[in-house]
Amino acid sequence: MSNLDVRMVPVLSDNYVHLIHDTFSGKTACVDPAVGGPVIDAVRDLGWEISHVLITHPHYDHTDGVPDIVEAFGAEVYGSRRDYGQIPKCDHGVMQGDLIELGKSIAKVLEVPGHTVHHIAYYFEQERLLFPGDTLFSLGCGRLFGGTAEQMWSSLKKLRALPADTQVYCAHEYTNANADFALSVDPDNADLKARADEVQSLREQGLPTLPSTLDSEARCNPFLRCDIPAFKASLDLGEREAEQVFAEIRRRKDHF
Ligand code: ZN
Ligand code: FE
Repeated sequence: MSNLDVRMVPVLSDNYVHLIHDTFSGKTACVDPAVGGPVIDAVRDLGWEISHVLITHPHYDHTDGVPDIVEAFGAEVYGSRRDYGQIPKCDHGVMQGDLIELGKSIAKVLEVPGHTVHHIAYYFEQERLLFPGDTLFSLGCGRLFGGTAEQMWSSLKKLRALPADTQVYCAHEYTNANADFALSVDPDNADLKARADEVQSLREQGLPTLPSTLDSEARCNPFLRCDIPAFKASLDLGEREAEQVFAEIRRRKDHF
């Protein structure tokens, strides 16, 4: 069993702030705090204290809570070295391959540009937990706000290459809307239809659709399937390179 206890705190309209608690050391990391107050309350209710703040990219809905959390707990803040100046209170600028200790557990930094140019993800290799920020959503991916389609496609492939049973803690609850788009481009995908039904039922019960797994995303998420011949052919894009297929469906999603 993993020594990491992960909790999702829903904030704003559709963000999740993830708490990762190491039961051995008592250390707790908080990923992308969109807000301070509700996260601090949730942490105190659990009897925890935030020691690490892990930032994936400097959008306000991932960083606005940082100053209050630093003030409340004296937490240390990690973010991409290249975004250093844009992340409030950032203590540690990190890059691809850097390792961050959380008690006995280790988060590895993965550079996954696309949504923003310097976007990073945090991956706990031992425990198979992935925090991809706004790079990968369940049944979707982040919009291109700085990076290119080519960069995003290669970032998504990099995440897809991690072990299939990796649990994916995305930063937003977008899955239901993503399912509608996914079905529009991949209507005959039986795994996707099953996942869409599951997602709808979870949301009707007010439950989160996360974490997902990389296995499920590889089978169901159209943005991870741009190099699958049958999928490309079904879109009449059989002759195109995977990154061109990606660019095309990302464009369609932007106007869906
Ligand atoms: Zn963002
Ligand atoms: Fe976001």
